[in-house]
Amino acid sequence: MKLLLINLAVTLGCVIGISAAPAEPQTIRCELAVIGGGSGGFGAALAAARLGVDVVLVERADQLGGNSVRGGVNIWEPVIGATSFPFELYQRLKRETNTAGIYSMARHQGTFDPAREAYRYPGGETVIDPKRTYLDTLQRHGRGKADIHGVVFEPGPMSDAMLAMLKETGRCRVLLRTEFKGVTTNAGRLRSVTLQKVEFTGSRATTVTQTLVADYFIDATGDALVCEKAGCEMMTGQEARAQFNEPGAPEKATTRVNGVTQIYRVARVHTPAVEPLPEGIPTNCWWGKRFPSAQISHSPNGDLIVNMLPTMEGAEFMQRGYQNAREECQRRVRAHWRDLQTRCDEFRGYRLDWIAPQLGVRETQRVVGEYVLTQHDLDAGLSGQKHPDIICIADHPCDTHGGHNQGIKSLTQPYGVPFRCLIPKGQRNLLIACRAASFSSLAASSCRLSRTMILLGQAAGTAVAVAKELKADLPDVPAERVRASLRSQQVQLDFPMPDALRKHLEKE
Ligand SMILES: Cc1cc2nc3c(=O)[nH]c(=O)nc-3n(C[C@H](O)[C@H](O)[C@H](O)COP(=O)(O)OP(=O)(O)OC[C@H]3O[C@@H](n4cnc5c(N)ncnc54)[C@H](O)[C@@H]3O)c2cc1C
Repeated sequence: MKLLLINLAVTLGCVIGISAAPAEPQTIRCELAVIGGGSGGFGAALAAARLGVDVVLVERADQLGGNSVRGGVNIWEPVIGATSFPFELYQRLKRETNTAGIYSMARHQGTFDPAREAYRYPGGETVIDPKRTYLDTLQRHGRGKADIHGVVFEPGPMSDAMLAMLKETGRCRVLLRTEFKGVTTNAGRLRSVTLQKVEFTGSRATTVTQTLVADYFIDATGDALVCEKAGCEMMTGQEARAQFNEPGAPEKATTRVNGVTQIYRVARVHTPAVEPLPEGIPTNCWWGKRFPSAQISHSPNGDLIVNMLPTMEGAEFMQRGYQNAREECQRRVRAHWRDLQTRCDEFRGYRLDWIAPQLGVRETQRVVGEYVLTQHDLDAGLSGQKHPDIICIADHPCDTHGGHNQGIKSLTQPYGVPFRCLIPKGQRNLLIACRAASFSSLAASSCRLSRTMILLGQAAGTAVAVAKELKADLPDVPAERVRASLRSQQVQLDFPMPDALRKHLEKE
């Protein structure tokens, strides 16, 4: 899986602990090691630490939030079930000025009305809508495009809010700029993970290797890197229809993964102009007649966030590898922005201000777990699923960005994700809580939303707390205990939403 080792070329630096730690020891011990500090990792670390578990969270970047922060995806699309931790984060951000808002759809290329608009908008536009509340963002199924509402937030404050919430537990050490490298196992169990960081003394850099020993581990790397090193079975690309009998799957397996997007932001200027293209970048499109359309979101600070759909097809991304693909996507950003400014006058009042430090990768490899979520779960919905261990609900439609999606019905009700999707097959003390959990390619294209990932993490962290209390291995944790704890944390597991939970969310 060489291509999947997404080397972000993050310059490894000193460990930034939550408390000012002088020198970290070479061997660190804790009850739970969470690897990856994106949406899933944050949810996992927070849930476990709040429930009394001593946690170490390892993140290779210098911020938390992963794709939601460094990938520039500071948009939470509407989805059911995003109560509890996502709601707390939103409440925290709302206390500050211009850091979070609720959006509604404005213009859309599909609903172009020549009587009212000068030209067809080059994609979809969302604007902050002060009339809307967080509750409006908690449903997707059954709604038309005009009735879609989500959350938009500023990435820096989101990372800070995540760090602050973890710090408040008093039980979570956060190791930033620290990269997971490998695992050691003992008698079929994970014993430790190897970490690497670079420490600076003046201008001298030294690579330091650390060992993190833990009772339990959660892989939240987005790419299932811990599971891969632990030898877990993986899935990549689209499964053949026969594998899970999914009507929407292609007849034969393919290597296709969802496209990647280099998100960028543009900021207002006083003097409108078309920005010159840097040398060596052609003005015309790189892959056909027209540039891709974009989801363009008004951010709380007034910038526009531009999300091309997509910047590069998944197959090309896999073939180029992360670093090369990122360089090419940055060139495409310049050309795309030039095209927007040339075609639509309104964009001349903005300048290119920020290209996300991380390429937005929707999909790489996924783990085979004790249960694989498939299209059958999505089609059956909560009322048709018979799983006793549902720990999270979701209702985003399958979204393969141009990929094969025939035979996929639109969702008429939410579906549930069983706890077994978080247990890599055969593992005793390792869970997976990120977009690489045990989902078929089709199910992953529905399930991967940021808030759903926070909720998966919350369930994984809660399961570890129950396991610790019972001195049990993770597959032996009683699902009913995890579900009861999640309900007491205000996680929505039932549909329609219980009145008490609705009242809690009304107090935003
Ligand atoms: C372009 C794009 C647009 C999207 N749009 C939306 C949207 O509008 N709304 C929505 O809700 N969702 C959207 N999504 C989906 C959603 O953002 C992601 O699926 C979700 O954020 C993934 O969360 P995660 O925790 O699984 O992974 P990530 O957020 O990627 O977190 C993984 C973390 O692990 C860290 N890590 C990786 N390897 C190592 C290592 N070796 N050592 C230490 N740390 C490591 C990474 O640095 C990262 O912080 C979009 C995705 C993309 C790519």
